[in-house]
Amino acid sequence: MSDQVFNNYIAGEWQPGNNGSIANISPADTRDVIGQYAQADSAQTEAAIQAAIAGQEEWAKSGLEQRYSVLMAIGDELIARKDELGNILAREEGKTLAEGAGEVYRSGQFFHYYAAEVLRQMGETAESVRPGIEIETRREPVGVVGIITPWNFPTATGAWKIAPALAFGNAVVWKPANQVPASAWALTEIISRQGLPAGTFNLVMGPGSQVGDVLINSRDVNALTFTGSLETGRKVASATAGNLVKCQLEMGSKNALIVLDDADLDNAVECAVGGAFGGTGQKCTASSRLIVTEGIHDRFVEAMQARMAKLVVGHPLKEGVHIGAVADARQLEQNVEYLELAKKEGATLVCGGEVFTETFNGEEVEGYYMQPALFTNTTNDMTINREEAFAPLACVIKVKDYEEALATLNDTNFGLTGGICTQSLQYATHFKRNAKTGCVMVNLPTAGTDYHVPFGGRKDSSFGPREQGTYAKEFYTVVKTSYIRA
Ligand code: NAD
Repeated sequence: MSDQVFNNYIAGEWQPGNNGSIANISPADTRDVIGQYAQADSAQTEAAIQAAIAGQEEWAKSGLEQRYSVLMAIGDELIARKDELGNILAREEGKTLAEGAGEVYRSGQFFHYYAAEVLRQMGETAESVRPGIEIETRREPVGVVGIITPWNFPTATGAWKIAPALAFGNAVVWKPANQVPASAWALTEIISRQGLPAGTFNLVMGPGSQVGDVLINSRDVNALTFTGSLETGRKVASATAGNLVKCQLEMGSKNALIVLDDADLDNAVECAVGGAFGGTGQKCTASSRLIVTEGIHDRFVEAMQARMAKLVVGHPLKEGVHIGAVADARQLEQNVEYLELAKKEGATLVCGGEVFTETFNGEEVEGYYMQPALFTNTTNDMTINREEAFAPLACVIKVKDYEEALATLNDTNFGLTGGICTQSLQYATHFKRNAKTGCVMVNLPTAGTDYHVPFGGRKDSSFGPREQGTYAKEFYTVVKTSYIRA
């Protein structure tokens, strides 16, 4: 049990929380207390925003080489410490150590990528319609960026927002999810050693209803980037719109993977298993709907069942484990509710779904564990195929042909990622152009994206400019047009 208290970082100082602290308890083993994490109140959040205003002015004056070096150093340290920080991440979130270390490594890559982007800030020149006048357009920092992140990618979501924010000369106030403060604190500690002007980077830990609420309602935050649920996203959108504050939302989804008769069966099964159950199914890109054509349906279900029998669910730090713990008690409860609802709606449970007690180091542990489950005989209008469960639950929807499969995939309020397994160039090409999703995967899992290209969705999955790659500058900068008469 760790009694160590980890404080907020405001105006260049580590500050205890005015609202005390909370224990960060591992969902994999509730005896594992990772630490006590300070809880900011509204006044401290406001103080962080004011510090950011001052810090941003200084940081924007910094030379590009300084910004480049800072981002490179953060990336280097994340990559060098991926196993140590991945261990903390795995314990606090429940995902496997391999997934945790991989996420920290990927976070380092985001910082490296945006270090390079620092040096690629080019403007444009234009001829004026009036003789003797020259025009140039350039990008300037947007100012103070509020960042609100969810619990399922505790380091990476912060990294893909913080890195471009700092690269383009902005200041940051970051509010991570209260379930996973340790990863946010660890990243902040690295940033705190980079010699940034005080206030350039702030960490305010605390509940969304208080700390988040101040951030989304502030007129001094110039841009607010949010990743989380649709329900909270709507609140963020209406609060920021009321103040005419720029906002960017990445929210839930109900992604589907299509498997056509001509698919390579082994690859289709690997795509479905990885996409549906990786990260314990708690990914916004998870393929919870498996849309399968008649000719391959029975063989696919049989192969899935055989493959799922080999999946090892268990303690995130245990050797040979493929799937870790569910993030918390509430999430596990909800998973079981969706499981029961699917059965009630008439779905057939092929395998999995058991909640079980895990043994680690020879002892039974209290944690939140569930075997991934596969359902067949489901239809796209069932609740289980409409709502995001964020669980290791996948539903097979049998369809006649490609046309019905595509229509089914698009028949959802969400639109983050969509996938197809086929050997037909014709179907793959048609799918790539007609899936109403922000990302499209051919013969690949719906989850798993690169760090140098845009990421985002359509419909209820996303709102505002795209994240990541060069597209991130749309959100993190504002354009200025200058007219010059020499
Ligand atoms: P959530 O919406 O409950 O919380 C997200 C963040 O918002 C947390 O930091 C939370 O404290 C904060 N928050 C809550 N209420 C708030 C309020 N009233 N004002 C301001 N902030 C508030 O989501 P979650 O349960 O942490 O994460 C799971 C969700 O995130 C899923 O829906 C998942 O699909 C989504 N997600 C989306 C992406 C993506 O890129 N599209 C990536 C990861 C997760």
